[in-house]
Amino acid sequence: MNFWFKEKNTDGYQVKWKISKILHNEKTPYQELAVVNTLEWGKALILDGALQVSEKDEFIYHEMIVHVPMFSHPAPRNVLIIGGGDGGTLRELCKHPELQKVDMVEIDERVVAASKKYLPSISSAFGDTRVNLYFQDGIEFVKKAGKYDLVIVDSSDPVGPAQQLFTREFYSNIYNCLNDDGMIVVQSESPVFYQEVFRSVYQNIKAVFPRTMVYLAYVPTYVSGPWSFTIGSKVYDPREYKGGSNAGFDLKYYNGKVHQAAFALPEFIQDMIQA
Ligand code: SAM
Repeated sequence: MNFWFKEKNTDGYQVKWKISKILHNEKTPYQELAVVNTLEWGKALILDGALQVSEKDEFIYHEMIVHVPMFSHPAPRNVLIIGGGDGGTLRELCKHPELQKVDMVEIDERVVAASKKYLPSISSAFGDTRVNLYFQDGIEFVKKAGKYDLVIVDSSDPVGPAQQLFTREFYSNIYNCLNDDGMIVVQSESPVFYQEVFRSVYQNIKAVFPRTMVYLAYVPTYVSGPWSFTIGSKVYDPREYKGGSNAGFDLKYYNGKVHQAAFALPEFIQDMIQA
């Protein structure tokens, strides 16, 4: 069997991947979930028609959403992940020996179950003894949670259950459940294709946190061009890399030079957040 999966990004742009097999397909209480075998990118997880992770390039997104904040905070011991059901963010986080506790709040337990079954190289850290997994809505969880050094919002696009994960109120609740020197990092979408979302995430985090910075990475299976991440920090400058040689870490994309270079923004992106 060979056919094409099409992801519609805007009314005038779509991307398609050749699929050799549908491994899993179900309608969960929250979204439509599929795991497929692609010809080019290995196995991929798709939610509501949007590709979330592919085996071949997931390391770029997961290393960048985790190690940039983890290596700019001097002592991140207690971390909260919102979303991230495939487990890639958790896998990268658990590489840090100083980490003592991770709470992970994923709304849809079927995403975790499917990732454990079909994507073992991505979901490999769910058994780590430092991890507490909650199947709850992250929006409600942060209203009464605390205290963390870092909160990572590894959400799907701002539709369906993830919509409220892009609001000022949500970031403000996260501010309250962070320690006095805490940080938040969020995936803030494509600054080329989803300019309004990108801009509003920046403005909303900036309204709450004293330091707000954007950094970029290039993830081939995420629409096209750069992908953005936005950090809000109470104290530390996220551009400052504190990771030494990061010897002993098994990494394929991230290092100290990439950390610093990722904060260099092209003029048009700089203009977008200054406007
Ligand atoms: N890296 C991916 C990307 O940007 O395409 C997203 C990773 S992960 C699969 C996103 C997860 O966020 C999904 O598993 C989804 O169920 C979860 N999610 C969406 N809304 C949520 C909410 N309100 N609370 C907790 N998790 C949520």
